[in-house]
Amino acid sequence: MKQRVSELACLGGAPEFADPLHVAQLNMPPWERVEAAFRDIFARRRYANHGPLVRELETRFARLLGVEHAVCVTNGTVALMLLARALELRGEVIVPAFSFPATVQAVSWAGLTPVLCDVDAATHMLDPMRVAERIGPGSAGILGAHLWGRACAPGALAELAERHGLALFFDACHGIACAHGGRFLGGFGAGEAFSFHATKVLNGLEGGCVTTNDARLAARLRTLRSFHGEETFCDAAPRMNAKMSEAQAAMALLSLDDLPANLVANRRRHAAYQACLAGIPGIEVVDYGRTDAHNHQYVVLDVDADAAGLSRDALFDLLEGENVLCRRHFHPPLHRLHSYRDGYGPDHFPVAEYLGRRLLQLPSGQAVSLEDTERVCGLIRLILAHGPELRQCVEAGR
Ligand SMILES: *Cc1c(COP(=O)(O)O)cnc(C)c1O
Repeated sequence: MKQRVSELACLGGAPEFADPLHVAQLNMPPWERVEAAFRDIFARRRYANHGPLVRELETRFARLLGVEHAVCVTNGTVALMLLARALELRGEVIVPAFSFPATVQAVSWAGLTPVLCDVDAATHMLDPMRVAERIGPGSAGILGAHLWGRACAPGALAELAERHGLALFFDACHGIACAHGGRFLGGFGAGEAFSFHATKVLNGLEGGCVTTNDARLAARLRTLRSFHGEETFCDAAPRMNAKMSEAQAAMALLSLDDLPANLVANRRRHAAYQACLAGIPGIEVVDYGRTDAHNHQYVVLDVDADAAGLSRDALFDLLEGENVLCRRHFHPPLHRLHSYRDGYGPDHFPVAEYLGRRLLQLPSGQAVSLEDTERVCGLIRLILAHGPELRQCVEAGR
């Protein structure tokens, strides 16, 4: 572990890590189990079209979350698109300005008009008071995103939606195995969309799912996800091909077997980061509390540049030099993305801007050992102890 500032990569030292550490779960089962599962698929010669593994995954995922229906699709973005479409809305959907681009893109793809809304500085998610201000005659729905696996004010938003006759649904792509008030995410609002991307805690090598307790909505989703065939008899148009393959389902099922162990490992990594970064001025690891189940999929650092003596971006660059590849979710916020910036100045949503400048996601997942977390913390401590000096070094490198 580096002890002296002169050893940092920015000042000419070798990177702390020979191989890059990523912000991604990349939880992979041992190869032998993957091989066995794929042998079974080949023996059955059933590779696609809602085969037995997709159905088993739907049953097990619904049971895990305590919801009635789970409809698996190709990926989380498509899950959100189909959910937005299956709700049969017309008009505007209120969407957080601080989220992953897919949140707003899904609304556009469903033929709806996204109306961006600022978020709460404490929760990072839709602020029900701000949502109320964005409701107008064209409003049809509210799409909340459960960022970092914390629930997006489901009670207050449900009340608001009901009062104004709006549909409420959620981007739950961060929220597998996370609970709110003793209930798992997946059963809130009309429906919730999950991702089984390799970067998420449950890995289907891409994959996604919509969960709902509404049988009619589930039937529409099953129809929409397949361009032909009568999986369900209901009218839903336009249909598309969003089917999950047996190969994806096999991976997701193996990952579901490993989920309890992966959740424990994530909790340990998160706690290790929290402990070894405690007491550094200007730095805080976003806490997930102890009362509800959580997946600890993300380790989110909140960097107060004034107190830390170094900006989030400078810290990001310096860590990158050490092969610690962090992420700056969500920078830029959605109102600054090319397709969505019309009508919004760069400072239109001050809280989204503020968070976009401060948050940093640290490496986590199966490839990051507890010892690695200690080394990352050591680097952060060393870097922040020499902020002014390193600022010049970063600027020279830009
Ligand atoms: C990962 C993610 C998505 C998209 O999921 P994919 O499976 O990659 O399409 C959408 N929203 C959020 C918040 C995500 O983190």
